[in-house]
Amino acid sequence: MQFKQIIGQTNTKRYLMESAQHDHISHAQLFLGNEGCGALSLALAFAQYVNCSNRQTDDSCGRCSNCKKSQKLIHPDIHYCYPTIGSKAKSTDLLTEWREAVLKNPYMNVFQWLQHLKADNKQGNITAEECEDIIRKLSFTTYEAPYKILLLWMPEYLGKEGNRLLKIIEEPPPNTLFLLVAENANLVLNTILSRTQLLRIPRISETEIQEYLQEKFGLNPNFAQQIAILSEGNYNEALNLMANANHDNQQLLVRWLTILVEKQTQNLPALVDQLAEMGREAQKHFLRYSLHFLRQCLLKQHLPQHHLAISTPEKELAQQLLQNNQRSQFELLYQLINDSFYHIERNANPRILFFNLSIKVGDNLK
Ligand SMILES: [Zn+2]
Repeated sequence: MQFKQIIGQTNTKRYLMESAQHDHISHAQLFLGNEGCGALSLALAFAQYVNCSNRQTDDSCGRCSNCKKSQKLIHPDIHYCYPTIGSKAKSTDLLTEWREAVLKNPYMNVFQWLQHLKADNKQGNITAEECEDIIRKLSFTTYEAPYKILLLWMPEYLGKEGNRLLKIIEEPPPNTLFLLVAENANLVLNTILSRTQLLRIPRISETEIQEYLQEKFGLNPNFAQQIAILSEGNYNEALNLMANANHDNQQLLVRWLTILVEKQTQNLPALVDQLAEMGREAQKHFLRYSLHFLRQCLLKQHLPQHHLAISTPEKELAQQLLQNNQRSQFELLYQLINDSFYHIERNANPRILFFNLSIKVGDNLK
């Protein structure tokens, strides 16, 4: 993988490339970031970069033999370790599945990976055998690249077996790099954490996700923006939202609030029916989107120069609401919608919930 294929993360990319250019590579690094931020992609791009035979200042060349093998995840000096199923399982036995899954979506989460392995409800783990295998693999000399790399995805799954790796992480063979990629530092052994250099990977910005979706999938700007907002910096979630987005939340929100503000009560039952029938996930998306709209209104009220990150029809509606309503009203609405989200997640009857919510919102909005 090349750095240019990764969404956003400009500073992290620069930091990683400079560390290689100045020969300041830490031999054990922990890439720590929430799901969908691209931590695994960054580790893959870094592994390719340090072993590229024709490294550029801004990326690996993508054409040398090391790059070509890295890109297909078949480089003999880059080893992968990840959660597997069963007490004797080893990553090496699942390389085909791993390549397939990562090349398809390097932003995947562990749940998707285990589903890919058809794990049903079985837990993933990184076994003692696996740790022994890592030690064995790293004791060979490199075949063809400057560095021998162990990319360990999800050290959270190591459990106490991780202690078997402490010695080799602390005193690795020459030219050996450990790249660990984790989501939750609390679940990684302290003994491992203390032996790695921590690299925190931030969330991807909404704008970067939006622009990427427009460019890659040709989404229209409004739709791409809705997905970017709901994904909260998680590109894996953005892909999931895009695959399941049958509803235009912007249009739905404008219609809903217009009915409530203009007291068109005759139109309310049909809209409540529509909301009630669209499925729980879509209802949650709609409510989350409504919260985003209200947050934008609150920001605008607080900071008049704030640029509203919403579509044009929504802006017109927001201006009208801002003229006629106080801060306390927006806060109350925010609370009401937030409570509804909580109840929808806990299987409340959606028809009753959206009807009650609409009445309360209508009573409080001018
Ligand atoms: Zn190259």
